[in-house]
Amino acid sequence: MTLLKCVKCQRTTQFTWTLTSEPLCRRHFLKRFYDNIKVLLSSPVLTPTSTIKIVFNGSLASKVLLHAICEIEKPFPSVRIVVLKEEGLDVDPLPRDRILLEEENIPKLPSELFEMMEQIFIKYVLPLKKSELVLLPLTIEEYAAALIYLLLNKKYNTLKYMVAHPKLRFPLAGLFLNDIINYAKIMGISSKKYFTVERKGLFKWILYLLEKSFETSPTSLHSIRSFFENIFTESTFSNYA
Ligand SMILES: [Zn+2]
Repeated sequence: MTLLKCVKCQRTTQFTWTLTSEPLCRRHFLKRFYDNIKVLLSSPVLTPTSTIKIVFNGSLASKVLLHAICEIEKPFPSVRIVVLKEEGLDVDPLPRDRILLEEENIPKLPSELFEMMEQIFIKYVLPLKKSELVLLPLTIEEYAAALIYLLLNKKYNTLKYMVAHPKLRFPLAGLFLNDIINYAKIMGISSKKYFTVERKGLFKWILYLLEKSFETSPTSLHSIRSFFENIFTESTFSNYA
């Protein structure tokens, strides 16, 4: 294994930040990881009295998202965290000191992306009250592939709410699967299920192409995200607000 030096503090490290290929030590990796999530979480909707509902299906990303939200909240716990967990799943082992988690059992989500998004939207996003948010654990690879997939399948409404609905967030959509794996390694989180969305059919094919493209240009995935964000804005949903 090549030993690298953290760009922030020169400590020896084995972790690199996928987007920029910068080596980061454990401490600086975690800081950037949390900052990234906070940016995608921040919104006028989220206040210290908000409720956030995290969709938990046992995938590595869903475990990492829940863990990271608890870590971010720990210093000043205020937000109410509800874990929408698929029946039969265990949310342990996760750090619960000073963080109170509520659990709500939900039926197993469909594995097909479009059906999964529809179900989440109808059952969990639409009935939300003011200052409640639903968080979905998709990495940037899965998020970008989902947007292209929905566009190719002409699922324009699903596409719109995935990009711009004010009560639906994807706090991991600035992070790559590799960053999720590194975070899990640091925190000792493991899962048999790597991916949140099942990789099959057209969705799998799009993901494969995106993974090829980000081998040479990791920023291309962020460009896909911004492209869609520029088209759909929150005003698209003024009726839902
Ligand atoms: Zn460092």
